[in-house]
Amino acid sequence: MPIAKCPRCKKLFEKSGSTVCAKCFPDEETDYDTVRDYVGRHPDCSAHEVAGETGVDEECVLRMIEEGRILNSASHEPVACGRCGQPAISLTKRLCQACLTELNTQILHEQSRIKLPPKEKEADAFAPAAASQGSGSSAPDSSGRVRDTIEKKRRL
Ligand SMILES: [Zn+2]
Ligand SMILES: [Zn+2]
Repeated sequence: MPIAKCPRCKKLFEKSGSTVCAKCFPDEETDYDTVRDYVGRHPDCSAHEVAGETGVDEECVLRMIEEGRILNSASHEPVACGRCGQPAISLTKRLCQACLTELNTQILHEQSRIKLPPKEKEADAFAPAAASQGSGSSAPDSSGRVRDTIEKKRRL
């Protein structure tokens, strides 16, 4: 088993999974709970802030971040934009500033197209005109023919 120096009491100990010695392990776990609780309520805090607010040694806070036990924003991997791979500014949408602007422009463009459908309007105006023209041309023909036959009967 490898020998390591305990980061809390600076004594050498046999390292077996834990980063601190068996004597310091309960204290380390208590500090961990304290730090985890604080970071959970203040996700944007720095290690220095955590140490100052919780009374846990800053070195200890940094060690927990390094070990991946505590995740604050400073230790987070930067989120990459899902479209171009640049650092994202919107963590929930995973988009960078350029792609957010581009998508917003596209959405505005789509919305303005939905509001103005020019082709449907043209079709509506054309349809009634064609219908009235058809009925209008047949009506005078038939009435003219009726008048013709009446006049023929009168002459006879
Ligand atoms: Zn120790
Ligand atoms: Zn992008």
